[in-house]
Amino acid sequence: MVKETIRVYARVKPLGRRQQAGSYSVDNEEPLPSLEITVPRDLTDGFINNKRESYRFKFQKIFDQEAKQDVIFDSIAKPVAECVLAGYNGTIFAYGQTGSGKTFTITGGAERYSDRGIIPRTLSYIFDQLQKDSSKVYTTHVSYLEIYNECGYDLLDPRHEASRMEDLPKVTIMEDSDQNIHLKNLSLQQATNEEEALNLLFLGDTNRMIAETPMNQASSRSHCIFTIHISSKEPGSATIHRSKLHLVDLAGSERVAKTGIGGHLLTEAKYINLSLHYLEQVIIALAEKNRSHIPYRNSMMTSVLRDSLGGNCMTTMISTLAMDKRNIDESISTCRFAQRVA
Ligand code: ADP
Ligand code: MG
Repeated sequence: MVKETIRVYARVKPLGRRQQAGSYSVDNEEPLPSLEITVPRDLTDGFINNKRESYRFKFQKIFDQEAKQDVIFDSIAKPVAECVLAGYNGTIFAYGQTGSGKTFTITGGAERYSDRGIIPRTLSYIFDQLQKDSSKVYTTHVSYLEIYNECGYDLLDPRHEASRMEDLPKVTIMEDSDQNIHLKNLSLQQATNEEEALNLLFLGDTNRMIAETPMNQASSRSHCIFTIHISSKEPGSATIHRSKLHLVDLAGSERVAKTGIGGHLLTEAKYINLSLHYLEQVIIALAEKNRSHIPYRNSMMTSVLRDSLGGNCMTTMISTLAMDKRNIDESISTCRFAQRVA
C-alpha cells in the first residue's frame, strides 16, 4: 500500500428551511479541489465598512449539499473498507460542529432506507465480500465505544438497560510489554452476518440515546467509535490475521463561549477541546518524517486508535459543514482543523 498521511474530505449539509445561505463556492479543480468561504464582516465584527474577507481551503474532494449517502460511501468509505479487507487497519472520522451532519454521515438517518450512512453500508459491503471469498475462514466482531469526559463506556454492554451508564464498569486502557493496547471492559460481540451486526449497531445507538436527557445531550458531547474487527485464517494454517476499521463520530467541535457556562458544561467543553487537540497533534506528528515519538498516550481516543492511524493504515476524515450564514464562523474553524491535519 502506498504510504500516505490522511485523506480529508468536506461535506456540506443542506440548508434548513429558514436558514440564510452563507457565501461560499466550490472549485472542483484537479488535483485538489478547493472551497472558498466569504465572511460577511457584519457577522463577526459589527459593521466595519462592509469589507469581506475570504478563505480558501483545499480538500481531497468536496461534496456539496446534493451529495447522497451512496455517493459518500462509494467515494470515501469503500476504499477504506477495501484496505481493511486486504488486511490493513483503517479509520474514518467525522469532524464538525454539532448539527453539521456527523451522525447523519457516519450512522445515517432513520427515516429512509436511502439515508443509511457509512456504518450500515460498510457492514453490508464487508459481509458481501467475505461471503464471496471461500479461500479463507473469516470471523467478524463489532465493538462500540463511547468516550465522554475521557471515560470510556461500552455501548454494547448487555447491562445497559438495567443500569445507568455511570454505574457500568468503565472501559480502561491497558498496555502490554509490547506496547499493544487492550481495552478492558469493552466487549467484542461476534456478528456472523449483516443483520446481526446491524442489530448490534442499533442496540448501541439506543443505549447512546437512553443515557441522554434534555439537560445532557451527551451524544453531541461524546466521541463514539464503532469498530469492525475481521480475523481470517487460511484452511490448515494456524496463523490468524487481524484487521479492523474504526468509524468515528467525534464530539461537536464548536467553541463553547467561555463566559456564562460553568459546572459540567465547562468540564465537557474542556475535555472535548483537549481531546480534539491531542488527535490533531497525533495526526500532525504522524505526517512528520522521521518523527519517532507520537504522543498517543495523551488521550483515550488516540490511545484507542494507536494501531489504526498512520503507517500502514488508511486514515480518512470527513469535515462536515453547515454553511448557513450563522454557522460560517464554525465552518471556517472546521476547515482550519482539516487543513492542519491534511
Ligand atoms: P451532528 O451529528 O453533526 O450533530 P446530525 O448528523 O445529527 O449532526 O445532523 C443534524 C440534522 O441535519 C439531522 O436532522 C440530520 O438528519 C440532518 N442532516 C445532516 N446532514 C444531512 C444531509 N447531508 N442530508 C440531509 N439531512 C442531513
Ligand atoms: Mg451527532
